[in-house]
Amino acid sequence: MVAKSRKGSIIGLDGVPYGLLDDLSDREVMPNFRELKRDGNFVPMRSAIPANSAVSWSSIITGENPGEHGVYGFTDLMKGSYVSSYHSSLNLRARPFWRMDDSCYLVINLPAAYPAQEINGALISGFVSPNIDRAVYPPSYAGKLKEQGYMVDVDSSKAQKSKLLFFKELNEALDRRMDALRLLMAETDPDVLMFVITGTDRLEHYLWDAYNNRDHEWRQELLDFYGKVDEAIGYIASEIGDETPLMILSDHGMEGIEAGVNVNTYLAQCGYLDLEDNPRKSYNGIKSGTKAFALESARIYLNKVGKYPRGSVTRDSELQLLEELTDLFQKLEKNGRKVIRKVYRRDELYRGKELANAPDLILVPESGFNLKMGLHKEDLFERGFLTGKHTEEDAFLYVRGWEDDSSFPRDPTVEDALSIFRKTSGGRLG
Ligand SMILES: [Zn+2]
Repeated sequence: MVAKSRKGSIIGLDGVPYGLLDDLSDREVMPNFRELKRDGNFVPMRSAIPANSAVSWSSIITGENPGEHGVYGFTDLMKGSYVSSYHSSLNLRARPFWRMDDSCYLVINLPAAYPAQEINGALISGFVSPNIDRAVYPPSYAGKLKEQGYMVDVDSSKAQKSKLLFFKELNEALDRRMDALRLLMAETDPDVLMFVITGTDRLEHYLWDAYNNRDHEWRQELLDFYGKVDEAIGYIASEIGDETPLMILSDHGMEGIEAGVNVNTYLAQCGYLDLEDNPRKSYNGIKSGTKAFALESARIYLNKVGKYPRGSVTRDSELQLLEELTDLFQKLEKNGRKVIRKVYRRDELYRGKELANAPDLILVPESGFNLKMGLHKEDLFERGFLTGKHTEEDAFLYVRGWEDDSSFPRDPTVEDALSIFRKTSGGRLG
């Protein structure tokens, strides 16, 4: 087969930290990536804050800050209510790269892209996609994908029942994704391909220990899975040939968990959150008198008058409250160890037309602390089932085709990746 040169290709490895990829490709586990490393730039990259896949991938595909693209997490409260809803691609407020020119694009398994929207080419949204029919554009491909047994995501609950079943599921999902890749490459013959692997994130959440501990009983299965990821990289690299600009990147890093921290429990214990018990344990239980609550754990919102049905924070008390809460989180300790590394105000992190929808404060935990929503949880700290958690640092960026190594951007963030990639394409992309 003669590889056809294309305008560009992006491979996403969800949740893969720089250190892990560097390590496994230095050894025999990932020989294809080791080969690529030799003639490309491979550096650590900073994730979005919070290090959430919806936020981070939205920055990667638009090149914009959350204040501009408007995505702050996988869930939000519906306007004027305490009802939480999943992110919809219809709410992305900045242009993704496939809308920047009239090239043909194939995008497979992009997180937070549901429902799949019109594209010149084809797109399959990744997690969270509750319905395969609405996860595929054009919808006419959905039938073929279902016939192939395409899986949007693995059923992570299997990891709690049986690690054997979990690995079976991870391998099956990646095999079927590769089938979809082959099918849609042939059907669309794209100028630009973006292919994301998300099993990596799932595996690290449940079995970070198997990477960290060489004697772990599932160590070999973990390495074998990364071997399979490397085969996918090798397949795409050979499919596009050496002349096509190639970017491989992750959306955030990963590290081991020392303890889970229920952020809403802390707010409740300190008297800032007053919750009525309700059967669904939802935000609808927020009582008037509540000053603040946490969404998806790292995002703190003031319960403002006029914004929420039972809002109690007036405009003239906001500043004082932000100071109190910052102090409160900075004081939080476990066994003498600080839990929160940094508390950001929204305008320290975000800029743009969507700033008004940003959380009021954003927490970055110290290493090992896994921030959790913890609505209606009694205990402030807990030891959950997961062994790996996202990190804000230590995502990675690999780019092939950058001309002068000495000018390669130092310390890039997920917001820089797209412009870096466009520079390598010599004007062919967008
Ligand atoms: Zn994750």
